[in-house]
Amino acid sequence: MAVVGAGIAGLACAELLRRRGWQVRLFDKGRGPGGRMSTRRARGWRFDHGAQYFTVRDARFARAVEAWRRAGVVARWDGEIVVLEDGSRRPTGGGTERWVGVPGMSAVCRHLGAGLEVAFGTRVERLERAGESWRLTSAAGEQLGRYDAVVVAVPAPQAAHLLAPVAPGVAARCARVDMAPCWAAMVAFDRPLELGFDGAFVHRSALSWVARNGSKPGRPPGEAWVLHGSPDWSRDHLELAPEAAAERLLAGLVAACGGIERRPVFLDAHRWRYALPAEPLPETCLLDAGLRLAVCGDWCAGPRVEGAYLSGRAAAERLAVPRP
Ligand code: FAD
Repeated sequence: MAVVGAGIAGLACAELLRRRGWQVRLFDKGRGPGGRMSTRRARGWRFDHGAQYFTVRDARFARAVEAWRRAGVVARWDGEIVVLEDGSRRPTGGGTERWVGVPGMSAVCRHLGAGLEVAFGTRVERLERAGESWRLTSAAGEQLGRYDAVVVAVPAPQAAHLLAPVAPGVAARCARVDMAPCWAAMVAFDRPLELGFDGAFVHRSALSWVARNGSKPGRPPGEAWVLHGSPDWSRDHLELAPEAAAERLLAGLVAACGGIERRPVFLDAHRWRYALPAEPLPETCLLDAGLRLAVCGDWCAGPRVEGAYLSGRAAAERLAVPRP
């Protein structure tokens, strides 16, 4: 089987397929596993610039998280989380248990991907039927092999693009899911800011969230911050240059905290074009049993790490039935 996308959905799917005895090959256009759970390294700094933490609601996901905890790849983040609004600060409701990958969010995906065959730096551009099987071609024109079945585990708009020529009905369902963008600024200072919190939901601002990366367990010390633009702000400023986006988000942090005197020693930004689904589909995954095609991701089960994991598992379970 082939799995397109080595984010947590694709990896959870491939890992279960392999345990059920299937031979699986994954393809990802990125340089490493994780997708939106990636960790960015830059000039000695490290930033979780996508997913910040994850929560656990489902019993199956809870079992996976417990296994990851025992393997040392996740830990609880007990940071001080607040709400910032119009210059004031208040505590969050509390009671939320937050988990993070250790030493970075991508650790979970690296762990899931250990022992799986993944071709990185490979953008799948075309899926075609060749008799009873699937043929995959990369954006560079390389033939990527023939497969019995295919799992597409990429954000909905990208899945729609890949599937339109070959499975138009499934593609149309993917195309209906809108995914909001998110500008993420990565900011480091040479001395602690001592803001008195580790993470904050920011209201009525260009920002939606800020976090002190070093406050999460297993991170190197240092004052590295991640600042997320709100969906509306990110959409309105989608075409900004990264430097300009980073400066604007930094200005948002300064305003939300009532002033920060210091200039950062590192500042960059990353644009997540498809960050979060506005309204996920109700199905846990999409399946065309006749074509032996499954489609999964956080835009199916739920707009979070947990939803993506459960969607990938559901795709494996539904696809891994023997041919009639
Ligand atoms: P992805 O992680 O997007 O994986 C898809 C993979 O497919 C990527 O690696 C991509 O490179 C690859 N790909 C795409 N197209 C192709 C192609 N044609 N060929 C080959 N490879 C391809 N969730 C939480 O639970 N808590 C949070 O705090 C949180 N914060 C977030 C903050 C931001 C800024 C973002 C962007 C997301 C956040 N999320 C959060 C959501 C969470 O990151 C996602 O729900 C989850 O990681 C999605 O996993 P996935 O496998 O479905 O997709």
